[in-house]
Amino acid sequence: MMMLTRKMIEIRSLLQTIGQSESLTLPSIVVVGSQSSGKSSVLEAIVGHEFLPKGSNMVTRRPIELTLVNTPKAHAEYGEFPALGLGKITDFSQIQKTLTDLNLAVPEKDCVSDDPIQLRIYSPHVPDLSLIDLPGYIQVEAFDQPTELKTKIQELCDKYIQPPNVILAISAADVDLANSTALRASRRVDPRGERTIGVITKMDLVDPIRGAQMLSDRNYPLRLGYVGVVCKVPQESRSLFSRGSANITNAITRNESAYFNAHPEAFGPNSNILTGTPNLRKKLMHVLEATMSASLASTSEAIHHELAEASYEFKVQYNERTLSAESYLAESLDAFKHAFKGFSDSFGRAEVREIVKRELDQQVLNLLAQRYWNRPVESLRPVDQLAESIQQPLASLPKADSEDPLWHLKLDASTSTLTKLGIGRLATTVTAQALQESVQSLIQNSTFSTHPFAVQAITQASENILRDLSYDTSDELEICVKPYKYRVEVSDAEWRRGRANIGEVLKHELKDCESALKALEDQIGGRRKASDVLAFIDRVRKGDTVLEGDGVGGAGGFSSALLQKGREALFLRDRADILRMRLAAVKSRQCSDPKNKYYCPEVFLDAVADKLTSTADLFLDAELLSKFYHQFPRILEQRFRDMDESTVERFAREDPKIRRHLDVVRRKELLEHVLKEMEALRALEQREKRSTVRS
Ligand code: GDP
Repeated sequence: MMMLTRKMIEIRSLLQTIGQSESLTLPSIVVVGSQSSGKSSVLEAIVGHEFLPKGSNMVTRRPIELTLVNTPKAHAEYGEFPALGLGKITDFSQIQKTLTDLNLAVPEKDCVSDDPIQLRIYSPHVPDLSLIDLPGYIQVEAFDQPTELKTKIQELCDKYIQPPNVILAISAADVDLANSTALRASRRVDPRGERTIGVITKMDLVDPIRGAQMLSDRNYPLRLGYVGVVCKVPQESRSLFSRGSANITNAITRNESAYFNAHPEAFGPNSNILTGTPNLRKKLMHVLEATMSASLASTSEAIHHELAEASYEFKVQYNERTLSAESYLAESLDAFKHAFKGFSDSFGRAEVREIVKRELDQQVLNLLAQRYWNRPVESLRPVDQLAESIQQPLASLPKADSEDPLWHLKLDASTSTLTKLGIGRLATTVTAQALQESVQSLIQNSTFSTHPFAVQAITQASENILRDLSYDTSDELEICVKPYKYRVEVSDAEWRRGRANIGEVLKHELKDCESALKALEDQIGGRRKASDVLAFIDRVRKGDTVLEGDGVGGAGGFSSALLQKGREALFLRDRADILRMRLAAVKSRQCSDPKNKYYCPEVFLDAVADKLTSTADLFLDAELLSKFYHQFPRILEQRFRDMDESTVERFAREDPKIRRHLDVVRRKELLEHVLKEMEALRALEQREKRSTVRS
């Protein structure tokens, strides 16, 4: 028969994992009693260990759902808190401490909480039982307890003592049964006394005859009867046990039976009353089994009903698409890898070339501005800088002279600056950055975008690979461009290409410059105001007016901020003028001939930049791109494969839509599983019934 209870308790636990539905459960034994009635002592006598919270400060504040699992072949006794994942706890004083902490975590102002603590105890010495321990009833609140405590405890207990649960009503023998809060509570919900077992504790504290009378009580008749117990651990044995280790059942039972045996006149075999913890255990087992069996049909019906609802939702909302956290992760990863493949097909040498060349174009422009288009002004004071910058820049620019060694030196120095710029690092960095940005946009367009955890993992993976590859790549590329550091030959074709390209670059730059100038004029307050400011600076230039002080506090009726903007505008105007002039120069006939390279440094430097780019794109394509394209998906795969089950679950649940979908699938699967177990159980029950009838 015991097999049946075990199975039913297992099903009960399974149902607990499904959800809080009232109908979706199997009955349990609910233990109620006043404080100090001996409730804890009874439970500990059944379990064989002290494990319940002790103390004067109302230590049980949450229901404890206690599942006892008989493990006949095992030696070890241990507890587990399934919801906490603390693993097996063999030290029962540790269980006691955990329970105390969990209870004390309920704020005192809330008094009690109806959120149960689940505890399972495995031992060869416990019967298969499912018990719920509740906070003890109190008569009146102590001065430091909230006034609503009594009512709250009562309400909590009332919630649990509803049918079909069995009520284990604990009363102490030294208190008149008429005053037993437990019996009174049971009376309210079970007026015919059909599902209440009365336990009378502390039988040793009253006269045996009177005790025996209590056990055959006629005032509160209970169909399941009363059991008298003495659950105190004898003082002499108590000192023998170090807390939390040895089993106390034997010591209690020995003490208990010594007491009952010493009073045969009251508790002898003919007395027709039930005494002793071993008898109580047996009774609990039988009653629980019978009650659970009686509930099987209705519970199974409730499961069918829930399953029908879950299946309906699954069909209507999710089109019966099954989903698990693992499959969601795998699908997401596949989709991402697919998108990455698409990206890698579209981003190759040509794209790298464009990125690197754009960067080098900027470097060429800076170089030209530094060496050809501007007169050095860094060493001047701000006020002189202003005066300097407002001289006629075009007129003051020195004219090129191909016979003058200075102009040779100038172009050689510029070329050398360009080739020694650190092309290896520069080109590698801009390419790696572009790859990193593309990975980011792939993430944003994938299902991973809603998963901060995945975003971080993918970003980190790509960053790490690119960083590692970049070290070697940039060094090796630097070696590849080394020859250019000594000599650069530019062919006619390269010159032509350079001339066309730099023309475009200058045009672009001119456009940018003009629109920046326009924006600045708008900031100054429109064209008109801007020309007033510029006219004032112009007068300073011609010496018609003097710039007072250092210009910091403003001058000429203009604030210093306005003057600053004016200076910037002037700079842009000058730059636009120069750009226009250089554009014209590049387009001129003189610049169509490579021989005139000293007149056309723009074209020559562009041709050099182009050569550098061609080396860089070839190398980066082979070294950075292809290695990244090879490694990245593999590392991602491995990273996600190494994730443990709970991380995968957490990942999938980050997305609320997926969480709902997973919940429905899981609920449906669990319900199907429970139903199957239920059916097997009912078949087992039928078989047992038939075999009992036969024998
Ligand atoms: P609870 O508050 O209902 O859990 O009560 P406890 O189990 O903590 O018991 C309250 C007190 O009664 C403790 O000091 C126990 O040692 C004592 N006690 C419990 N059962 C018995 C018993 O059968 N006989 C005697 N003499 N004392 C008991």
